Amino acid sequence: MAGRRKKFYDVIICGGGMTGAAMALCLANLKLNVALLESSLPQPFSKKQRFDLRVSALSAQTVLLLETLDVWEEILEMRCHAYRRLRVWENPGYGDAIFNAENIEQLQLGFIAENRIVQLALWKKIKTNEQISTYCSTTWRQLIYCGDKILVDLQNGEQIAGDLIIGADGAQSSVRREFQIPSSFYKYDQSCLVASVRANEAEKDITWQRFSKTGPQAFLPLSKDYASIVWYNQTEQINKLVQLDEKDLALKIMESFPKELGAVEVIQKGCFPLHKSHASNYIKPRLALIGDSAHTINPLAGQGANLGFQDVICLNNVINTALINGEDWSSQAVLKRYEIKRKIFNSIMMNAIDIIYHGFSNDVMPIRFIRNKIMSFANFPIINNSIMRYATGLGMELPINFER
Ligand SMILES: Cc1cc2nc3c(=O)[nH]c(=O)nc-3n(C[C@H](O)[C@H](O)[C@H](O)COP(=O)(O)OP(=O)(O)OC[C@H]3O[C@@H](n4cnc5c(N)ncnc54)[C@H](O)[C@@H]3O)c2cc1C
Repeated sequence: MAGRRKKFYDVIICGGGMTGAAMALCLANLKLNVALLESSLPQPFSKKQRFDLRVSALSAQTVLLLETLDVWEEILEMRCHAYRRLRVWENPGYGDAIFNAENIEQLQLGFIAENRIVQLALWKKIKTNEQISTYCSTTWRQLIYCGDKILVDLQNGEQIAGDLIIGADGAQSSVRREFQIPSSFYKYDQSCLVASVRANEAEKDITWQRFSKTGPQAFLPLSKDYASIVWYNQTEQINKLVQLDEKDLALKIMESFPKELGAVEVIQKGCFPLHKSHASNYIKPRLALIGDSAHTINPLAGQGANLGFQDVICLNNVINTALINGEDWSSQAVLKRYEIKRKIFNSIMMNAIDIIYHGFSNDVMPIRFIRNKIMSFANFPIINNSIMRYATGLGMELPINFER
């Protein structure tokens, strides 16, 4: 390594997906110099393109972060759809809970956006930010501790160094593995089929999820006549469904989904295995993990990306407070504050989703009775509004803080 000129940064972020790209913009706002590594940038957007299969329900808190980073207008400009109501019910006809943004004086409960569009909007902003240097279509070859710095050998032959490295490289995080951070892994029995469909009979201001004996079925509205549907079932069944051609799959969807969906035309389809994972630590000296590199969650409640964005807000605020107080902002003591806050919260969320998942996969009478009572309670205004505030992130006091 001797003799090679290296560039120094405050922070090196590995992975420029939704969370890594948002983190880069946040830290640049704190006047830190950031290097962002991304091995494969997404395809540019055109309005003629079909809807991507990977979409996320973005909570109000996530939208607030994206507005603060000045990328929300760009997302709206490309493609994104608001939903005002959320309905969850069980088939056959037991519990039925409905949530309406009007009841908490909001215009919407959230937005459905394609992951690629969120990422592209963040990258457009990154390209105009002088605090951020991007290293695209390459990745790291070696990560080496050197005193209180991390040296990164890139595959393109360059060498860079930073005070902190952030792993934002997704569920299969190579950064997490390189730092030998163990991660628990649980594979659910079910998989899910995701399809983008044309559904011109369905109401478009609502997202819904119906629990049936074989697993949940969800509807997420997209712009114009389009929607994304998610069908959970045993992996064997999902593998069979995904092999059907578009016409036969549309027939199966119309047979099995609630009548609220109406007629559909399948545009694209794919399937995802269901699993969850959780890193035993989010930090090591001069290292922090965020987003899917630290935790993946059952997509049942559509919270994976939202949790990643909350990691971003939390790490930003912890670092900013340390900068204000003149502390070593990339030290283990400072990073520990981030880990403590986020690990507890993410664990609670993962367990809550599991209770819903296992609770609804069970047809034992007392459990069915309890869950239907819970669903009825969810319609009481005080409980209903509190659930909505929590689910949209409005109940959580975690504003992003760039003030120095
Ligand atoms: C079926 C399904 C439905 C979902 N629905 C929702 C939903 O409704 N709402 C929600 O909030 N979440 C949802 N999620 C979860 C959400 O998609 C993820 O949590 C989110 O995409 C994670 O973002 P990330 O940036 O952490 O990781 P990723 O999106 O995986 O990004 C990682 C980035 O790192 C890059 N990278 C990887 N390795 C390297 C390397 N070595 N060097 C450089 N770059 C690298 C990759 O190219 C990629 O760009 C869903 C997930 C699934 C599977």
